[in-house]
Amino acid sequence: MTRGIKLFKILGIQVSLDFTWFVVFSLVVWSLAVGYFPVQYPGQVGLTYFLMGIISSLLLFASVLFHELSHSHVANKLGLEIKEITLFIFGGVAKLSKEPDDPMIELKIAIAGPLSSVFLAALFWVLKNIIETAIASPFITAILGYLVMINIVLVVFNLIPGFPLDGGRVLRAILWLRTGDVQKATEVTSSIGKGFAMLLIFFGIVQILAANFLGGMWAVFIGLFLQQAAESGYQQVLLKKALLGVNVKDAMTKDVVTISSDYAIAKVVEDFFFVYHFIGFPVVSDGHLVGMLTLNDVRTVPKQEWHNTFVKDVMDSNINNMIIEAKDNVMDALTKMISLEKGRLPVMDNNKLVGIITRQDIMKLMVIKQRPADWRGNRYFAVFRVNLFRRNKFINHLIPAVNILKKYL
Ligand SMILES: [Zn+2]
Repeated sequence: MTRGIKLFKILGIQVSLDFTWFVVFSLVVWSLAVGYFPVQYPGQVGLTYFLMGIISSLLLFASVLFHELSHSHVANKLGLEIKEITLFIFGGVAKLSKEPDDPMIELKIAIAGPLSSVFLAALFWVLKNIIETAIASPFITAILGYLVMINIVLVVFNLIPGFPLDGGRVLRAILWLRTGDVQKATEVTSSIGKGFAMLLIFFGIVQILAANFLGGMWAVFIGLFLQQAAESGYQQVLLKKALLGVNVKDAMTKDVVTISSDYAIAKVVEDFFFVYHFIGFPVVSDGHLVGMLTLNDVRTVPKQEWHNTFVKDVMDSNINNMIIEAKDNVMDALTKMISLEKGRLPVMDNNKLVGIITRQDIMKLMVIKQRPADWRGNRYFAVFRVNLFRRNKFINHLIPAVNILKKYL
């Protein structure tokens, strides 16, 4: 389930628009129509500027999409599956099924984006020069001029060596190649990323105080977004390290309570949800696992229907996708939960249901695994203390966030 609008498929990749995109699109159109174009191309009516703003914004987002597609295409070629790109509030986010395991792969994927933007900047520059000499239409050349400029901005911005920007990924890959330590490489580059984000926010506030409200707000927004992305990119690496070598079987909840597909919803609510306080139960029929029923499935049924609606009518029966093996790595389970947007997975061993693993199980495990003792003697210890505090806060925020997420599953 994607929060947004599916646009089209290209190179096997689904392109979607997040709802926040429309907000940004309107803002870009507006700032171009009232700010940028009246200066670049004076003496026109408001409607002309508005039209130029719309065309330029659409081409800007096409440029961003081209940039993201270049990353994704290279990633797909190198064996990392990317099925979806969502154009977000700022730029795009390619849905990587997992982070690259090899610094060289990371390097190639990271560099593809800026190279594609350099290509676009050059292409628009050539077009601009051709149009300038051939038909001398200031309307078109002003738009092309903007596209040259904005693609150069995209290159420069993305090459800042702070993770998770492209430049940060390149630097991370180089550090990772030289030291073999992905965690430290991520820590250093995400610190640069956060430092840069702080600078951007500071710069934005100064701009706002100097009455450049629009430009200042942009800088603050992008800074906040970057800060968040740098932090969560680092968390992901820590998570991966903490969960390395831990099997699903060690993190799952055993003694799993199952329900029959023939039970009425009323019975399930009274005898299971109210009794065990679990959010979901595996469903069995003739001794076989046939589905999962969560509280949210129940919520889709009006209360007066609870007596004549059965578990099999509302359960999620797409069970083959959901199954995880007891011997699998916990990280695989988490990756699966994220890609399926599920809060829990049934665990099988030799075709037998042996447990259930939830996001909370993994979260708990992560807290236990990441003790400050592991970090003694590390020169980043001071930094880590701050991060530990943040991380606990992060987990505390994450658990309700996951619960909210579950509402939509
Ligand atoms: Zn990029």
